[in-house]
Amino acid sequence: MPAHALVWFKRDLRLADHAPLAAAAASDMAAGLFVIEPEWLASAEFDPQHLEFTLAALAPLREALAARGLPLLVRSGSALQVLMQLRSEFAYTHLFSHEETGPGWSYTRDLAVAAWCRQAGVAWQEWPQTGVVRRLRSRSGWSDQWLKRMDAAPVPAAAGWPGARLPMAALPTLQEMGVPPQPRPLPAASEAAANRVLAGFLAGGGRGYRRALSSPLTAEQGCSRLSAYLAFGQLSMRQVHQASELAIARARDAGDTDLAYGLRGFTSRLRWHCHFMQKLEDEPAIEFRNFARATDGLRPGDGPPVDAAAQDRLSAWCEGCTGYPMVDACMRSLRASGWLNFRMRAMLVSFASYHLWLHWRLTGPFLARQFLDFEPGIHWSQMQMQSGTTGINTLRIYSPARQAAEHDSEGRFVRRWVPEFGTAAYAAPVVDERSALKHAKDTMYGLRQTPEARAEADAVQARHGSRKAGLPSTAGKPRQPRKRTGLQAAAKDSLQLDLFT
Ligand SMILES: Cc1cc2nc3c(=O)[nH]c(=O)nc-3n(C[C@H](O)[C@H](O)[C@H](O)COP(=O)(O)OP(=O)(O)OC[C@H]3O[C@@H](n4cnc5c(N)ncnc54)[C@H](O)[C@@H]3O)c2cc1C
Repeated sequence: MPAHALVWFKRDLRLADHAPLAAAAASDMAAGLFVIEPEWLASAEFDPQHLEFTLAALAPLREALAARGLPLLVRSGSALQVLMQLRSEFAYTHLFSHEETGPGWSYTRDLAVAAWCRQAGVAWQEWPQTGVVRRLRSRSGWSDQWLKRMDAAPVPAAAGWPGARLPMAALPTLQEMGVPPQPRPLPAASEAAANRVLAGFLAGGGRGYRRALSSPLTAEQGCSRLSAYLAFGQLSMRQVHQASELAIARARDAGDTDLAYGLRGFTSRLRWHCHFMQKLEDEPAIEFRNFARATDGLRPGDGPPVDAAAQDRLSAWCEGCTGYPMVDACMRSLRASGWLNFRMRAMLVSFASYHLWLHWRLTGPFLARQFLDFEPGIHWSQMQMQSGTTGINTLRIYSPARQAAEHDSEGRFVRRWVPEFGTAAYAAPVVDERSALKHAKDTMYGLRQTPEARAEADAVQARHGSRKAGLPSTAGKPRQPRKRTGLQAAAKDSLQLDLFT
């Protein structure tokens, strides 16, 4: 029987380093498919910017593929229905795709697709495209596995495909999909644009990376801005890793130690990307519940319905009207642009979780909608880490005042985004910082001292913690809160980025 291959595109909107596409080139007939799934559009993390960016990436991709013989169909509907329907138009025997570490709805969909493939006699083959390892037994040795994958030769691009004769309808518009327009100016979405951004960063843009990444004033230009391309797959992690290593070697050879140093700081983050995704892969439930069950039910949003006061605090935070200027400036900037640097994302979550005492399930979907680069594995792990619900990480409470003093000392960022700051029109603080933090710290540190919480922390560390951090087991050795007390301790946030822990 001739092999007919269907390449199912998901978060891999590129031609290069694409194993499913390469495999399809060896088939007797092939087609590509992208499905706009109603489950995606209806999910609490979806925002129109995500669809607009996807469609903008699909347009040049399907042109490039069509020029090489492969039709890329874009259909809307539940993936299973679309796959079943398509089989009557194109009798594919093989379904090729990349592995996905996605939200719960995509996991459920994959189970249904796998069951149907078995029953319909379609051979579904999946390839990894990041450092995430399926059915990982132990985190020991994970870092070496990551490097081995990233150092492997990229998949060569096929010269062409024996394309099936299938008519390609025009790409739908947001309006046709019933999705409201979105106001943000989006970055160019093509694979070529992603490669240009990468090349620019490696050729010199990354020189000041380590200095630039903390302040929202400098990070916009000084960070790589590759996250959306990695999330939607215009670039593979392996491409970014290998191009970066080459650029570092070249910079060293050329005596450009500043650039080499900046880029080395950048490459360590690439591992974090996969490290955090691995957590969701290993434990899909962390999208919905705390890593550390000992922290269950602490905050509004994690149990009984949220009361009006918590709802008001949530609204003030979402609107960027908390009366804390650095928090409000960051939120308004994020809402306008779809991007924010890591430190300020962490501060927004820390503020919501500690100052406003809101559970991350309340704030996480809202932030996911604001981030163009929403990547479930990173997002939910980080939401929990910055909220103190992993049980294993340093409790890090960011002081908005200190962040402003250190990263916007002249108040330029705040003035740009909160022009009414300093006038009577500016909101009064939504909570009293001193009492809010006392409550948060007493509760969190008190909880961490309990034997149950410590035993649970060991289990989380064994399953999800980085071996690099070399964290000792907590059993039998209570972790002490730092000596400083009260507001002083809260204001002095811990700046060490032990993100692997
Ligand atoms: C609460 C919270 C939620 C987040 N949600 C996301 C998300 O949904 N998607 C996402 O890509 N990043 C997320 N991050 C991580 C980080 O903020 C972004 O990756 C980064 O700001 C993207 O900008 P950049 O590409 O210029 O990053 P750079 O600083 O140039 O870093 C390069 C790449 O390294 C990876 N990276 C950098 N920092 C981290 C990190 N802390 N954890 C994991 N990977 C990292 C990203 O892939 C990034 O593109 C989140 C951070 C926090 C605190």
